[in-house]
Amino acid sequence: MEVLNLIQGELVSAKGGEWLDLTDPSKGSIYGRLPRSGAEDVNLAVESADKAFKSWSDTPHNERAACLNRLADLVSKNANLLSAAESTDNGKPISLASSVDIPRAESNLRFYASAIQHFASESHSMEGVAINYTLRKPLGVVACISPWNLPLYLFTWKVAPALAAGNCVVAKPSEITPVTAYLLSTWVKEAGFPDGVFNIIHGLGTEVGDALVRHPKIAAVSFTGGTATGAHIASVTAPRFKKLSLELGGKNAAIIFDDCDFEDALATTLRSSFSNQGQICLCGSRILVEKSLYPKFRDLLVEKAKKMKVGDPQNPATKMGAVVSKDHRDKILSYIELARSEGGKILCGGSSTTPENEPHLSEGYYIQPTIIEGLNFDCRVNQEEIFGPVVTIQPFESDEEAVYFANSTEFGLAATVWTKDLKRAHNMAAALDTGIVWVNCWLLRDLRTPFGGVKNSGVGREGGFEALQFFTEPQNVCIKL
Ligand code: NAD
Repeated sequence: MEVLNLIQGELVSAKGGEWLDLTDPSKGSIYGRLPRSGAEDVNLAVESADKAFKSWSDTPHNERAACLNRLADLVSKNANLLSAAESTDNGKPISLASSVDIPRAESNLRFYASAIQHFASESHSMEGVAINYTLRKPLGVVACISPWNLPLYLFTWKVAPALAAGNCVVAKPSEITPVTAYLLSTWVKEAGFPDGVFNIIHGLGTEVGDALVRHPKIAAVSFTGGTATGAHIASVTAPRFKKLSLELGGKNAAIIFDDCDFEDALATTLRSSFSNQGQICLCGSRILVEKSLYPKFRDLLVEKAKKMKVGDPQNPATKMGAVVSKDHRDKILSYIELARSEGGKILCGGSSTTPENEPHLSEGYYIQPTIIEGLNFDCRVNQEEIFGPVVTIQPFESDEEAVYFANSTEFGLAATVWTKDLKRAHNMAAALDTGIVWVNCWLLRDLRTPFGGVKNSGVGREGGFEALQFFTEPQNVCIKL
């Protein structure tokens, strides 16, 4: 597999001629290469986007929408290819890629093809004196930078609103999982995008990503990734007055009350803990259970987690695949060690493993689903993002204590509340310092809703018209009557 950059409608290697390895985490082996792009490639991509901007921003919104819909058609037509590629590149089960990642990538493109046609601007009448109307102008050339955990899903979540709003894009997928964005880039011309409108460049964040966010012609940066990277990008872009949207890390609480629908709470908490090997920013990594329910909930959750076996991600029956890389596996394992040293009791899992009877996967990066109890709410394992199949579980005695534990971290992305008492659910949601609260569900998404976090989980919101507002600049025109 050879990944290439898309610049000015052409698929090209990096100017410097250097490459990076593509690794299949299920086998721990190299299976291809991607361009190690640098500032020169960024420059070419930004210049080509800049040249294309006037014409693209003048293109009627329904024609821009048609390009996005044709790209969505190509995603749909190639869904099996994309699902297999996502699974190989990331280690995620193919069942997840084909039921979540790829359908959602298609939906993102279709959603913003439709949303731009309903995106209205405002007018303010000053009775008899003047009329104000607010134009929403595209920004110019924008950077979209995405992470490895939901590669095509999060990549399209950014580029679709940016392009729909009339911007030209230079996008940078994660160097760890670039393949599905590359496949998408091979269909951009066929979808009808004029050359230069949509560019995709590959390489290391610290090299090509850094050059991109610093580029003087980049008007805005939409970034999803780690909090430390987000802070760095903010420090680079703020003095240059670029618009910035940051979707960062999480340390989400799942709060389970005694009066919940037990079976639903148990099954969904298992899913919210270990889906995508716990590598979803929305996964609930701190499970807080009302004291009266605690022993029963804990024991059954552990019983179910023990039955989850890691397997070949390409096998349609597999529910737990590989974690994304050797470095990431080692980071997760170091947190399990830290949990032991902080006095945690490992109830299940706790180490790396390999799928049974699959000798060809013996060098892959797998971790058993791990549940830890006995840790204080304020220890490092309960405060720092682990981003793997590792959760902690602890009892709470009152609504106030649950809120206190949940809000104790520097993150504020999402929380889940399980109770049949709607008044309690509402009060809990209001008290939680998170951008998203799910009551009696998890990861139930309506693309029209604001998506994002507070505190160190981010700045700004994606989703619905929020993203179109981000990717446009309001200009008020006042006409005296
Ligand atoms: P990361 O921050 O290492 O990388 C994200 C992207 O930024 C990659 O494309 C990377 O190449 C690029 N990058 C790295 N350094 C850069 C720099 N100096 N300048 C410009 N670009 C740079 O994150 P990751 O490890 O790929 O992803 C995991 C993180 O993403 C987790 O913290 C997770 O919580 C977070 N995440 C957040 C959300 C959300 O919506 N809030 C969604 C998914 C993932």
